[in-house]
Amino acid sequence: MRRFFVEELPSQGETLVITGSEARHILRVLRMGIGDRLVLMDRRGNRFQSRIESARGQEVTVLLEKRIPAPLESPVEIILCQALLKARAMDFVIQKASELGVQQILPFTSQRTVVKTGDDKPSARLRHWREIAVNASKQSNRARPPEVALPCSLPELVERWQDEEALKLVLWEDEKSQGLRAVLKEAARPRIIVGITGPEGGFRVAEVDRLREGGFASVSLGHRTLRAETAALTLVAILQYEWGDLHL
Ligand code: SAH
Repeated sequence: MRRFFVEELPSQGETLVITGSEARHILRVLRMGIGDRLVLMDRRGNRFQSRIESARGQEVTVLLEKRIPAPLESPVEIILCQALLKARAMDFVIQKASELGVQQILPFTSQRTVVKTGDDKPSARLRHWREIAVNASKQSNRARPPEVALPCSLPELVERWQDEEALKLVLWEDEKSQGLRAVLKEAARPRIIVGITGPEGGFRVAEVDRLREGGFASVSLGHRTLRAETAALTLVAILQYEWGDLHL
C-alpha cells in the first residue's frame, strides 16, 4: 500500500482532506480513486490504513480505517553532523542518511566550507532538505523522518553536545593513530552517537583540536581519502551495522 506523510492525523473512523502536491500525486500520478487504500503517517510514528472516500479537483478525502503498527526505529540514535557541502552532495547525504535511519542531521559551517551560505534563503534550503528527508523516509518505510536543522557553527555544535551522554566521533582524514574499528571494539553500545564529518576541503587542525576538547574522538576510516559524502554514509552504515538495525 502506498504511504503518505501528513502533518496531523485525526482519530480512527474520522476523515481527512488531503490537498496540494500530495493530492495531485494521488490523483494524477498514481491515478488512485474512490475505494483505493493507502497508508497515512504522521511524523511521530502513527500510521493508519485509510480508504479514499471522495476525490474532486485537487482534494482527496480519506477515511482512517484502522491503526497499523509502524516499523521500529533503530535502537541507537545516530546524529549526523555534516559540514555544509555543495548542493548536490548535501542532498545526497541527506537522502541516504535518511534511508539508513539516522535520527537527526545537523549541518554546520566550518572554516574550509566551500559553499557560500549567507545569501540564499536558509528557510528555502531547509524546506528542500526536509522534503528530501521525508521522501527518503517514505520510500524506505521508516516510521519517522529524521530531523534536519538549520546550519550552525562548529563551536555551537561542540557546545550543544558538551554535557550529553553520547559516543562522540569526528571523522578526520589526517588521523593517524585511531581507527574507527578500534573505537567501536572498545566502546559498549551507546544510546546516542554523534558523528561529525568534514567539508570537501577537510578540517583545519585547530577545528579538530576544538572538537577533541569538547569530547569528540577523532577517528580514521583508513588511508584512502574518501569524498565527504562517502565518508559520512560509510560511518552511518558501519554504526547501524554494528549497533543498530542494518540487519534482520
Ligand atoms: N580535502 C581533504 C579531504 C577532505 S575529505 C584532503 O585532501 O585532505 C572530506 C571529509 O571526509 C573529511 O573532513 C573527513 O571528515 C572525511 N574523510 C574522508 N576520508 C576520510 C578518512 N580516510 N578517514 C576519516 N575521515 C575521512
